[in-house]
Amino acid sequence: MRRTNTCGDLRMSDLGKKVCLQGWVRFSRDHGGVAFIDLADRYGITQVVFDPEDLPAGADRDAIAAEMSKFTRECVVSIDGIVRKRVEGTDDSRNPTGEIEVLITSAELLNTSVMPPFELGDQKEGVLPNEDVRLKYRYLDLRRTEMIQAMEFRSKLVHLARQYLEQNGFLEIETPILGRSTPEGARDYIVPSRVHPGTFYALPQSPQQFKQMLMVASMDRYYQVARCFRDEDSRKDRQPEFTQLDLEMSFVDMKDIQDMMEGLVSYVWKGLYGKELQTPFPHIGYRDAMERFGSDKPDMRYGLEFVKLTEVVKDAPYKIFQNILAEGGIVAGMNLKADIAGEKVGRNDVDRYIKYAKKVGLGGLTWMRCVDGKLESNIVKYFTPEILENIKKTMGAEEGDLLFIIAGPWKATYEGGGFLRKKVAEDLGLVPEDVFQFFWMDQCPMYEVDPVSGKCDAFHHPFVLPEGDPMDENVGGACFDLCLNGNELGSGSLRIHNVEMQRQVFHKLGLDDERIERNFGYFVEMLSYGAPPHGGIAIGVDRLCAILLNKESIRDVIAFPKNKRAVSLLDGSPSKVDDDKLEELQIISLAGDLDIGDIDETEIE
Ligand code: ASP
Repeated sequence: MRRTNTCGDLRMSDLGKKVCLQGWVRFSRDHGGVAFIDLADRYGITQVVFDPEDLPAGADRDAIAAEMSKFTRECVVSIDGIVRKRVEGTDDSRNPTGEIEVLITSAELLNTSVMPPFELGDQKEGVLPNEDVRLKYRYLDLRRTEMIQAMEFRSKLVHLARQYLEQNGFLEIETPILGRSTPEGARDYIVPSRVHPGTFYALPQSPQQFKQMLMVASMDRYYQVARCFRDEDSRKDRQPEFTQLDLEMSFVDMKDIQDMMEGLVSYVWKGLYGKELQTPFPHIGYRDAMERFGSDKPDMRYGLEFVKLTEVVKDAPYKIFQNILAEGGIVAGMNLKADIAGEKVGRNDVDRYIKYAKKVGLGGLTWMRCVDGKLESNIVKYFTPEILENIKKTMGAEEGDLLFIIAGPWKATYEGGGFLRKKVAEDLGLVPEDVFQFFWMDQCPMYEVDPVSGKCDAFHHPFVLPEGDPMDENVGGACFDLCLNGNELGSGSLRIHNVEMQRQVFHKLGLDDERIERNFGYFVEMLSYGAPPHGGIAIGVDRLCAILLNKESIRDVIAFPKNKRAVSLLDGSPSKVDDDKLEELQIISLAGDLDIGDIDETEIE
């Protein structure tokens, strides 16, 4: 290798050294015949200088000048030179190489570059082009320091996780990408089989069934950095493919899995930040999380908790609440204390929040303000003084406090309340930055029952171990989520290892024997061959990296993501294929000529 150093290496201790650097010409400027170049690579930026008045011995001035005249932005060059101290007052303290520069003794153009569509230097806000342009030229976007740092961070995080798991006896085992389509969960990505026309593989939504099979296969501890595919509608922070750190363990209880995960996260934390992470992580039950924070992945870095008011208002002659309570609904309140909200949330803001509440599925939003020791609002006339006093007491309302009261069916109301809580917290600047709060959300139900049809869906997935009678729709499930700052990082559970119980759960989920056999026959059969008690968890690598790096989107920590419309602008996928390819697969397209560019961007939430 000719290169002696990277562009991030050289320091004052290298003064006088003869070096060879190779990299990209990021910026160049000419100061009265002295040419400066910021030479960049993954490791950093070093200033290299062509100084005709101060040429080192052996340097051919004309040859250097001729070669450098061919340099353009982002071309690739090789520079030989001598490390020298920068002229007094021209140091760049933000750059680790900023005290030195390399005086060029010879220069060579290794490859040209056409003009890049956007600037790749350290970006000031607003300089970046829109994301679609960045994604189309992702190989250029990835040259930016911020993206390089994201890739380095992600690589280190995954490496540390692997290290920890290997130390703990886990085997890294790959599971198939081409598998069977199953009816549960999200929509599958389907791959047609040419050899068996009319049949299809599905890309895995997760390695769930295979990792359970590995436990039956006595592997005891499995892990994989697994790519998962889910064909879901486009959303801002969704990707058709994403990466899970997936693991499974035999002969464990829930605490064993959680302890292992806490150990892993702490190890990774120490490796990334050099600091201890506080363990064990706190736990919060599902109902508690919903009823206090309006979310099963609550952001608990700030207050604004809901307090139940159902009992307090049950006798209030206020029709709206009466109707809701008669239908089994709930009433709950959130206190925006005077010191955080006070004057800041005026009447107009309240109207804005009422509108927002409707948008997030709340029927409406009731408010009261504590003025001169009493609750005031346009509806207090419907409440007796005793009830108002009781609301005040239950909510801990003091002078100047503003109460938001939500009411309606349990789940939808708390969920809507959760969105409202988040919005208020963001508006009032209550969300602390740089605080990372991991916790477990547990005590989950096994099923989610549709209030109208009575149909049971799996709360997590159909393989979770019920904590009692599987035929009881209110039974708990041995499952849990790992959460961080209002985000779900991943889910885990103990699994069913008993064939009969698995069948019962499938029945409860509405699958008859014929369907179980057709869709899960192999899986159920596998359980009959001495399946050990087992369980596991999978966490989203993209999301974890995005949160830790404070990125808005997981796309910022994925090298080659699809855009918001699930399109790869880089290679133009998905794309039409030639008719003869379809013919070979015996497939006829019914889609006509709609171009993917025709999809309306505003449809995407
Ligand atoms: N496979 C599950 C998921 O993707 C995680 C697990 O239960 O291990 O959510």
